Amino acid sequence: MRLPVACALVPALALAGVCAAGAPAGAAPGDALIGEQWAASSRTVVNLPAAWRLSQGAGVVVAVVDTGANLRHRDLAPNIWTNFGERPGNGRDDDANGYVDDVHGIDLTSGRTSNRPDDAQGHGTHVAGIIAGAANRRGIVGVAYRAKLMIVKVAGGDGRTNTAKVAEGIRYAAANGARVINVSIGGRGLDPALADAVEAAGQANALVVAAAGNNGSNNDAAPIYPASLAAPNLVSVAATAPDDGRRLSPVSNYGRRTVALAAPGEGVLSTSRTGGYEVRTGTSMAAPHVSGVAALMLGARRDISAADLRAQILQTAARAPVAVSAGYLDAEAAVRSVTTATAYHLGQRPVVRILDPAAGPRDLTFRIAVTGATAAIRRHRVRLGRRSVVVAAARGSEPVAVRIRVRGMAGRRMRVDALDRRGRVIARARARIRRVARDKPDTSRGTPIVPLAGEGR
Ligand code: CA
Repeated sequence: MRLPVACALVPALALAGVCAAGAPAGAAPGDALIGEQWAASSRTVVNLPAAWRLSQGAGVVVAVVDTGANLRHRDLAPNIWTNFGERPGNGRDDDANGYVDDVHGIDLTSGRTSNRPDDAQGHGTHVAGIIAGAANRRGIVGVAYRAKLMIVKVAGGDGRTNTAKVAEGIRYAAANGARVINVSIGGRGLDPALADAVEAAGQANALVVAAAGNNGSNNDAAPIYPASLAAPNLVSVAATAPDDGRRLSPVSNYGRRTVALAAPGEGVLSTSRTGGYEVRTGTSMAAPHVSGVAALMLGARRDISAADLRAQILQTAARAPVAVSAGYLDAEAAVRSVTTATAYHLGQRPVVRILDPAAGPRDLTFRIAVTGATAAIRRHRVRLGRRSVVVAAARGSEPVAVRIRVRGMAGRRMRVDALDRRGRVIARARARIRRVARDKPDTSRGTPIVPLAGEGR
């Protein structure tokens, strides 16, 4: 058995109770309600306690595209993502990403510039707790209890939203550092904007995990979006029932071709909007179990692409007699597969991309994303016109955020050269720089779409 690395290296974490002194290495967290979280039991097919010996998802950013979240909930507050490029409450878009004061995420339900993504419904708070409820000996514990939650609010108290908001939420999440994007929302209408947003997320190396739907029907025959989109960075999830997680919940949609995995979704205990805890049922609860496991995998191995992440989750799924393509989510097998495998993508040539190059009044911001064989890339050289203006250190498969103090770049072209240790160019990307939006994009038009969970079952 091996100690979680962060605990061995950071005594402060051990003192804070993250690695309880005296407990066996990797023992399940001792949160008060863990006995009521059936999916966290070692007796289910999910094998979560065994996965926790290998990873807790430390620092991995998971976006919750949903109804917002109770940011002050004691089981969520320790794990809420913070955008350190933004000064809270100054009414300005400090990091020039198009959103004012997006300190913990965004709120697309309000036309105002305010971006405090509080939850007026409860669905998003519940989903967030499943993904990354804190291991603090109180309440519940999330699947990736040391991951960070980026809260992307696309639906208000009535739970209604549309494909335009969900698409913009996915784009924001990917552009601002989320490696996993949970979308427990779905509808019958296909909007190309959704497919485009999922593709943009793939370019930023982000995995989209989508709930399959709660009609008890076959998605192969009647698709649900975004779950039924065919994309190399999207996983669609059906819901299983207690106690061992081997039976499909009667509410769950399924599909041998278009639904990848089955994960716990019936009778799931998690955080409530009012600060307590509640049980909910639906594929909305199943998707975040997969998102959490993806975060555990990334916690163990950052340099894995979104496509490889998806491939490994599916490859390691336990064989299931239910109508999904890959099988039951197996957290331990999934995390183990990335800790033991040697570099997946050494055979694929590196591809560099420039994400969201945007010119504000005083600066230019963008992110550099790399897929394929990233190990040889040491630095990125940024060229504006004929000038080489900045050199940024490469970070494997993690996107690199760059900000350059320069005026008047809107509409101009830029280039990024990925360099090896000898300074040779091994991949190159070009992009046209757009002007930073002064306000939120118009997301009022789009196909209606709803969060996918019932309450209190
Ligand atoms: Ca901002």
